[in-house]
Formats: sequence, structure tokens, C-alpha cells
Amino acid sequence: MNKLHQENEEKIISKKDVIFIIVLLAITMMIFIFMRISRDTGYNVKITADGKTVKTLSLDKDAEYVFESDKGYNIVIIKDGGVCVKEADCPDKICVNHKKISKVGEAIICLPHKLVVEIRE
Ligand SMILES: [Zn+2]
Repeated sequence: MNKLHQENEEKIISKKDVIFIIVLLAITMMIFIFMRISRDTGYNVKITADGKTVKTLSLDKDAEYVFESDKGYNIVIIKDGGVCVKEADCPDKICVNHKKISKVGEAIICLPHKLVVEIRE
């Protein structure tokens, strides 16, 4: 009788353990998904000229920023979660020809204008 009771208790505990593990996994997955979503949408576009930050924009919102200095101008476009330089009057046009960037750490540099467009977290 005593032994049977013990076995029953063990079964209940193991069932609870399974539920606990499932709940724990579900919570872990939810945190993981939430972190992914917040990371994907939390990027910023930092525009630096001559080492100074001139503008910080959100990567989520489509925007157009015109940078102007005595050296010239650059038109920075944010569209569909990516950044590119649409137009510039620099002599090399490297920034204009640069492909669209969308990942953290990527940057478009316009050497003649000392302009850096980078994606930050
Ligand atoms: Zn350029």
C-alpha cells in the first residue's frame, strides 16, 4: 500500500516536470522571438560628417535626408529597411554606386565629403 502510493506520487511529479519543461520551452521561444523582432526593428542609421554625428534616423521609417556642407551634398535615402545614397556631387560617386545597406556594421562612406552612413543597433 505504501509502495503503491509512492509510485503514484512519482508519476504525478514526472507529469508536472513534463508540463514545466514545456512551459519553460514556450517561454524561452517567446523570449527568443521577441528578441528577434525587437532586434530587427531597432536599427538606427547614423550619419557622420567629419567625425561628428549630423543625423540619426530610424531604419524602420522611410526617409530622405539631404546632407550639405561646403564640400557638397549627399542625398541619403532610407527605404524598405535599407539605406543608400541616391545622389551626390562628389567626384568619385563611390557612395552613390554603393549597394543598399541593411545590416548592423555596414556603412557607406563618401571620402570626398568625409561622410559616413552606418547602421547601428
Ligand atoms: Zn560620394
